[in-house]
Amino acid sequence: MPSEAKGEGAEVATPARTRAIIARHGFAFKKSLGQNFLIDRNILRTIVAAAELDKAKGALEIGPGIGALTQELAKSAGKVTAVEIDQRLLPILEEVMSEEPHVTLVHGDVLKLDLRALIAREFEGTSGLSVVANLPYYVTTPILMKLLEERLPLQHIVVMIQKEVAQRMTASPGSKAYGSLSVAVQYYTEARLVCTVPHTVFIPQPNVDSAVIKLTVRPEPPVAVTDEGFFFRVVQASFAQRRKTLLNNLLSFAGKDRREALIQLLDAVAIEPSRRAETLSLAEFARLADAILAQGWE
Ligand code: SAM
Repeated sequence: MPSEAKGEGAEVATPARTRAIIARHGFAFKKSLGQNFLIDRNILRTIVAAAELDKAKGALEIGPGIGALTQELAKSAGKVTAVEIDQRLLPILEEVMSEEPHVTLVHGDVLKLDLRALIAREFEGTSGLSVVANLPYYVTTPILMKLLEERLPLQHIVVMIQKEVAQRMTASPGSKAYGSLSVAVQYYTEARLVCTVPHTVFIPQPNVDSAVIKLTVRPEPPVAVTDEGFFFRVVQASFAQRRKTLLNNLLSFAGKDRREALIQLLDAVAIEPSRRAETLSLAEFARLADAILAQGWE
């Protein structure tokens, strides 16, 4: 590889280096793959610092692009594996990462890969694994839900995502951004907004603002529910129409003829029927879901 891309100062995350690499490889961005590459080393350092890595730990990166974040991860983690869907980026990544034997590049769609098997293969012997990524915005939620629902052995998930989605994932009950996505993410993790990020730190610049969030995976959910799938269905149903009361949303779910029974049920779990779903805590949703399940209405 050319000497300018080796050694100290060889990070690809500057506007000039990113443009030079792209030009040299004749690479054309694909908007449909959410390709917005980071060109700011301070942001990269902030992302990696939030992941609390050390040389005994591993980092799984989703969507390495031309390797800006991969290079920063390689400095902190003992093992880095990066999954990239776009075959055209593999030769660039191989060149950029050529002197990093502890970095493995995998060509594939993260939504289709068996991540449990990949983790077992790639991170054997490491003492903790985190996902660290500047995610493609078109699939942020499916990727994060896959990581959480499959209960992969992860410590932290530190990701750059769209600011509006970050606000929803980290929102508290009572705030406008709080919804079924907040409940789902906070059921599995402790969610924190690390920082917001201007669109000027990407090439090409996205149309929306961005933010970095840190999700610390909980060993156990903060609330116990009898049936997780049912719990999430009740949460979805409660938020179905935000301007409606909880009672009215639940009527559509349980059946219009169950008005009196639902009022009694809400009374029994100490939730006022006129409240809106956005004011309910996870503990209240858990109580509500279990009480509806116990009715055997479905
Ligand atoms: N990590 C790089 C950076 O920060 O500069 C690039 C981030 S860019 C926002 C998202 C990357 O994810 C792109 O390289 C894109 O090709 C890749 N990507 C998109 N969909 C993917 C998928 N389903 N599986 C794996 N990678 C994907």
